[in-house]
Amino acid sequence: MDLSSKVALVTGSGRGIGRAIALKLAEVGATVVINDIGKDANSVAEEIRALNRQGLAILADVSSSSDVDRMVAEAVAAYGRIDILVNNAGITRDQLLLRMSEEDWDKVLTINLKSVFLCTKAVLRHMIKQRWGRIINISSIVGVVGNTGQANYAAAKAGIIGFTRTMAKEVGSRSITVNALAPGFIDTGMTQQLAEKQKEELQKRIAVGYLGTPRDVAEAVAFLASEEARYITGQVLGVDGGMLGV
Ligand code: NAP
Repeated sequence: MDLSSKVALVTGSGRGIGRAIALKLAEVGATVVINDIGKDANSVAEEIRALNRQGLAILADVSSSSDVDRMVAEAVAAYGRIDILVNNAGITRDQLLLRMSEEDWDKVLTINLKSVFLCTKAVLRHMIKQRWGRIINISSIVGVVGNTGQANYAAAKAGIIGFTRTMAKEVGSRSITVNALAPGFIDTGMTQQLAEKQKEELQKRIAVGYLGTPRDVAEAVAFLASEEARYITGQVLGVDGGMLGV
């Protein structure tokens, strides 16, 4: 895999899965724009520059259209193009439905799903002009099979799958592929919040017997971003150690 002429934008890449994706894409040659709302993006950009690759941190809230437009404009001003978009930023606000507030429903749908619409729309104009692009959306196994206490998150992640399949149809003729990943149980800040008992129960359902790492997800992203994956679009790839249906 060689992404050395490519520019990638990875949302929510200051830590966790997004950070691993940014570092992996840089490792295989890409210039990477790192985004989050805190300050971690700056240190990931430094890590990337230490690999002798170009890296730029842009703080922006991906659920705000003005922030997204500014982020994409700054990235294009810096590097002249965006070839790869990884829609990774996401949050959870778990609660059984009867106790779920309207605010937590809206927040999860806005940050996990509306952001994918906003970022894709802002980047797509550039990809269409370039007649090449890769869009990789981070969904979840929860968007495929559901999960107690995560109605908001499951709805957002299932929405990403419908969006991915639709976009693949809309832009396939421009050499732009659009795919989703459905990670299972990956060891990050998001899953460290779970109770020990919950983690043990989940681990029993993983065929390979252990939690995934952010790097496991990043490897799949790098492949889907490559020229070698040009004939794969509209797909949902499970990265779950055999969790689905277990
Ligand atoms: P994480 O460790 O909680 O990291 C989430 C990242 O998203 C952080 O960098 C955070 O930035 C950023 N972010 C949150 N809200 C944002 C916003 N409004 N605008 C820009 N950035 C924002 O989560 P993770 O586990 O790496 O998850 C990454 C993605 O994978 C998410 O979409 C998640 O749903 C999905 N996923 C995770 C798992 C898992 O087991 N971990 C499984 C399936 C799918 P700050 O640090 O600035 O808050």
